[in-house]
Amino acid sequence: MGGSRGESVEDRQGLLAQDDHMRDMERIQMEVVSITRPTPTVARVTARIAPTNPDAWCRPNLAMRIEVETPEDARPVSRVYTVRSFDPERSTIEIDFVVHPDDSPAMRWLAQAGPGTKTWFVGPRPHFLPDYECGRKIAIFADETAIPAVYAILNAWEQPARGVVYVETTDRAAFEELPQVPGVENHLFLRGEDEQPGKTPYLLDAAQALPEPGAWSIWAAGEREVARAIRKYFEGHGLGRDEMRVFGYWRHGVSSSQIDRARLGHYSGIRARGEGLERFEDLDLPV
Ligand SMILES: Cc1cc2nc3c(=O)[nH]c(=O)nc-3n(C[C@H](O)[C@H](O)[C@H](O)COP(=O)(O)OP(=O)(O)OC[C@H]3O[C@@H](n4cnc5c(N)ncnc54)[C@H](O)[C@@H]3O)c2cc1C
Repeated sequence: MGGSRGESVEDRQGLLAQDDHMRDMERIQMEVVSITRPTPTVARVTARIAPTNPDAWCRPNLAMRIEVETPEDARPVSRVYTVRSFDPERSTIEIDFVVHPDDSPAMRWLAQAGPGTKTWFVGPRPHFLPDYECGRKIAIFADETAIPAVYAILNAWEQPARGVVYVETTDRAAFEELPQVPGVENHLFLRGEDEQPGKTPYLLDAAQALPEPGAWSIWAAGEREVARAIRKYFEGHGLGRDEMRVFGYWRHGVSSSQIDRARLGHYSGIRARGEGLERFEDLDLPV
């Protein structure tokens, strides 16, 4: 597929293919088995994969980078999605794409994909889990793009941890698919159809309404500015970076290719200092 060269992120030093970045990930293909619309905002892709190490796919909250467009003479355009679930018997994964109105690389991929579509991806990248060790109550904040991550986390919730989950979405049914876990309360903020995603105060409001804000362990993911505001709020209440697992999944008005270029620039500085991926603080990037 051509026409998307401007979205390609050049990696002139080849850093992204090196071991420090790849860790235990591999680049393989997935073959789409089905695409369904289980709830109004979700396109659920079930795809077959043949990983070298299937055990690595059994952990909750894994991310994968899907090559959604392949321009000529440029690196593939890729987008990061969460593995909602992995079925080791069928060797299939589920990925929930939040459908949004932009004419974007991921939405174009989705529009042309169907059973039999084969697409390269890199994964699995283990993403943050709640800090079950710390003994504190866990507060989770997520917009619709992080519902698959929260789904995977709740399915593997480690008892006896206690928690609260706050989700913002326009899609009540997507929220209602989340598992009910003993000791965890799920709360929905139903965004209005006329409200812009990534521009609402609901998740930050929920954070600010938590009693004893300094006594929690935080997991948050969603729009980058919202995620940053949540992190800043809890920092102001004395939580250190190790007590917060906060990630920006997308940025309102900004393509992920732009974010990826900033990521690569930051990472290349880290590598130039002889350091590795563990030094990477994604939300500190100026994007
Ligand atoms: C670790 C990680 C896990 C993720 N998991 C998921 C997941 O499971 N499901 C999922 O849907 N997304 C997930 N995302 C977010 C997803 O990668 C972004 O939404 C991405 O921008 C989609 O690419 P695109 O090509 O559609 O849009 P882009 O080309 O990146 O952006 C084009 C325009 O669309 C806007 N846009 C992008 N996403 C949305 C959105 N959701 N709602 C409204 N506007 C948007 C951008 O602000 C921009 O203006 C994850 C991101 C990360 C980093």
